[in-house]
Amino acid sequence: MKKVGEEIDEDYPGLNELIANMWETMYEASGVGLAAPQVGKSIRLFIVDASPFAEDEEYSEKDRKVFENFKKVFINPYIVEETGDEWPFNEGCLSIPDIREEVNRKPKVVLNYLDESFVEHEETFEGVPARIIQHEYDHIDGVLFTDRISPLKKRALKKKLTNIAKGNIDVRYRMRFPLQKSRR
Ligand SMILES: [Zn+2]
Repeated sequence: MKKVGEEIDEDYPGLNELIANMWETMYEASGVGLAAPQVGKSIRLFIVDASPFAEDEEYSEKDRKVFENFKKVFINPYIVEETGDEWPFNEGCLSIPDIREEVNRKPKVVLNYLDESFVEHEETFEGVPARIIQHEYDHIDGVLFTDRISPLKKRALKKKLTNIAKGNIDVRYRMRFPLQKSRR
């Protein structure tokens, strides 16, 4: 998971099956994003579905509408620009069970990417959608959110992180959560 992922083209073997498996894996783990390196493929591909945030009443009606419709596949993405004052958001990761930390990132990101039909897009994302993209984008560069927290917090998590680095973790992608909501 620490490797930088490689770009792919339309001939990448089994791409549709891989994407289908990733959706399934992500939903089973109640995640909102999943990157190919998290399932052992060192390529530049990630998927996002922010719809669970649409049920969070902390957000405005307008934001929730955006979250509801924010489901996408990103292939060979690159960040064109990140702007704004950094803001904290509590991040978690399917690959680092049981750890959540406030991470500071910029609120606005311009992303160039290919969709699952290899059509190119350049789009601006803000707030929570930007945050999910930044987190997943880090995965394809071999970066985990715990690489972005303060040294003090990192020291407090040292044992867990050492186990993760050694691969001694129980990644519970297949775990079912009793409170998991039904999905479309
Ligand atoms: Zn993650």
